[in-house]
Amino acid sequence: MKTLSDNFLDIREAIRDLCSSFPNEYFQKIDADRAYPAEFVQALTEAGWLAAMIPQEYGGSGLGLTEASVIMEEINRSGGNSGACHGQMYNMGTLLRHGSPTQKETYLPQIARGELRLQSMGVTEPTTGTDTTKLKTTAVKKGDHYVINGQKVWISRIQHSDLMILLARTTPLAEVKRKSEGMSIFLVDLHQALDNGMTVRPIPNMVNHDTNELFFDNLEIPAANLIGQEGEGFKYILDGLNAERTLIAAECIGDGYWFIERATNYARERIVFDRPIGQNQGIQFPIAKAFTNIEAANLMRYKACELFDAGAPCGTQANMAKMLAADASWDAANVCLQTHGGFGFASEYDVERKFRETRLYQVAPISTNLILSYVAEHVLGLPRSF
Ligand SMILES: Cc1cc2nc3c(=O)[nH]c(=O)nc-3n(C[C@H](O)[C@H](O)[C@H](O)COP(=O)(O)OP(=O)(O)OC[C@H]3O[C@@H](n4cnc5c(N)ncnc54)[C@H](O)[C@@H]3O)c2cc1C
Repeated sequence: MKTLSDNFLDIREAIRDLCSSFPNEYFQKIDADRAYPAEFVQALTEAGWLAAMIPQEYGGSGLGLTEASVIMEEINRSGGNSGACHGQMYNMGTLLRHGSPTQKETYLPQIARGELRLQSMGVTEPTTGTDTTKLKTTAVKKGDHYVINGQKVWISRIQHSDLMILLARTTPLAEVKRKSEGMSIFLVDLHQALDNGMTVRPIPNMVNHDTNELFFDNLEIPAANLIGQEGEGFKYILDGLNAERTLIAAECIGDGYWFIERATNYARERIVFDRPIGQNQGIQFPIAKAFTNIEAANLMRYKACELFDAGAPCGTQANMAKMLAADASWDAANVCLQTHGGFGFASEYDVERKFRETRLYQVAPISTNLILSYVAEHVLGLPRSF
């Protein structure tokens, strides 16, 4: 299948080669057992792929978001799921952009070597949801440490991470001029925090995605773990979200190609009424349409990557890429399932697993409605709705 993604062939071939050691049966078993693909993530780490965006001076490869996105795309295109490890690729960006020289020198080389995992980011809260600036988790400075109280929800990969970036309010909402002010970000050592002020409750969910509720009850973290300036944390988090959204767009593109390839292969091979089902336009057209939408979304993904790598503002393109790619992959998922008929529901065909996995991206890390609202207000200048 010839696609827009015929660039960066050296990276693609290396990732495909690595992924070929982890066949569909591996991911089927991991999914059925609700296990973590530890061997797969270890192989990616040892090969240095998850350190792609860490500058060379800190021991990474110093590659751009474009190349990083190709890595994530190829993992999903090969039948795997980057969701198990994509946090390691982009969370460090917050530290890189806003951390002190000491923090960067302490953590980035260890992250690059895979000795430290910074796979988790704690933003979402149960009572405030997408209305992030109203979050209720507080961090109060007492001497040389901050005391954290509150609750987070849907915080992923805690069990497979050593560190977490946490967003908490350091100045009450009532005392700031703008609601985006007065929040700060911290690096939390998860091993120290666990059962020492932080408790974790896993959330069983539709996909094999380790995600959790976190409860903070007077968790103490060193003041030295504040990243950047106190009160500026929301801005720092937003900076990092553009990379996250663009990488996830690339993962959706990878999923999309996977669904199209499976659908076309099956449509060619499955004989019903004495002919391949793919001979019927009722089968061909939805596949062709889904493929067209993936190619179109892919253009916006590369545009977002190009702007990010040039250091230019890319919020609009990152958001639009994420929405278009998530819609395209979800459409392709439905088409693939429909093309497979009953067999689409059988786990051994992988379609139902990938179908569930790609569905997540309509909601996380930002839901489609919130992207539309961003475009309506920030790009088109329509009145604020909330
Ligand atoms: C598997 C999984 C993993 C996750 N991992 C993480 C993580 O690691 N870290 C983290 O911080 N978060 C994580 N999240 C949280 C995720 O980012 C949120 O679920 C997502 O941003 C949506 O927020 P919410 O669930 O609070 O929905 P809500 O804000 O409650 O919204 C519910 C629905 O209403 C819609 N809606 C809300 N307000 C409006 C409006 N004004 N106009 C129109 N529609 C509106 C939304 O689009 C959404 O569809 C994860 C979520 C899942 C499911």
